[in-house]
Amino acid sequence: MIISVTMNPSVDISYRLEEFRLNGVNRVENVLKTAGGKGLNVARVVHLLNSPVMATGILGGTIGDFIESQLQLDGISHDFLKTDQESRNCIAILHDGNQTEILEAGPTFSKQEEMQFLQHYSKLLEKGEVVTISGSLPRGLEASLYSQMILLAKQQQIPVILDCSEKILKQVLDFQEARPLAIKPNIDELNELLNLQVSADDINGLREAVSHSCFSGIDWVLVSLGAKGAFIKYLDDYYFARIPKVPVVNPVGSGDSVVAGLAVAILQKKTVENVIKTAMTTGVLNAMETQTGFVNSEKFDFVYSQIEIQKIM
Ligand code: ATP
Repeated sequence: MIISVTMNPSVDISYRLEEFRLNGVNRVENVLKTAGGKGLNVARVVHLLNSPVMATGILGGTIGDFIESQLQLDGISHDFLKTDQESRNCIAILHDGNQTEILEAGPTFSKQEEMQFLQHYSKLLEKGEVVTISGSLPRGLEASLYSQMILLAKQQQIPVILDCSEKILKQVLDFQEARPLAIKPNIDELNELLNLQVSADDINGLREAVSHSCFSGIDWVLVSLGAKGAFIKYLDDYYFARIPKVPVVNPVGSGDSVVAGLAVAILQKKTVENVIKTAMTTGVLNAMETQTGFVNSEKFDFVYSQIEIQKIM
């Protein structure tokens, strides 16, 4: 099965207001509360693709209970380490065409909790075949935790797909002993990481960027380019993936859906072309839906058949 890790999950609360009264009382009728976090999006999309998945990370308090109940409702298997620290809420206030966000910092974990999580994760690895690690780390935990998780998976020959901010990615890449099988920066993250300004249309620039020595030992470097598809390095080969024009509803979480597609295709030991097409299809399918981290698998074949892959010589 695929083990999908979210170290910093949240309950995402959205308040839709006609008008935002600063320093006044705002009453809300439209409240939406969902289990949030990039790895939870990955888990949901894997589940919607009918592949086996286990969501994990650290949860605590009544907010943690709510996240678990949402996963339960969606039928997603989960096994989180429980702490007595409350998980966080992230609030988005949608008003007058604007979005004001209030993000709780969330819990701070100690070295002891880090050790407990690593033990918990090691047990899960006994059942794992692919691991995905997504998103930020709560306070108290550092990028070295991701490196340790990659190392533990590697000892069991379990591939890891890592999708995190350029700041954490840089620190993980600096640690040569623990290479993930795949990473999925978007173009902005790639540029930040390498201090470049490559555009999505600059094939030579992209090729040069993904050939940077910091990526050595990583089989898959998939740079997602939003509506322009993706540029991919697989071992010593380079590919450009073109995607069809589709009615876009909400592209947020498309990157997480790409990670889910990658994980499923890698789990199923698909060909290189199939892995790329699956990852692109899930990204596109997410962009066509209102819900973040959601795909309609009935449209899978239709979108898949329209993805074009060009090998770059
Ligand atoms: P997020 O952080 O919101 O999860 P991301 O920035 O990591 O997203 P993107 O590069 O925006 O990821 O998109 C990932 C993939 O999703 C793209 O490679 C593409 O396949 C698909 N996608 C994204 N935006 C669109 C769009 N507007 N139309 C069609 N497909 C899209």
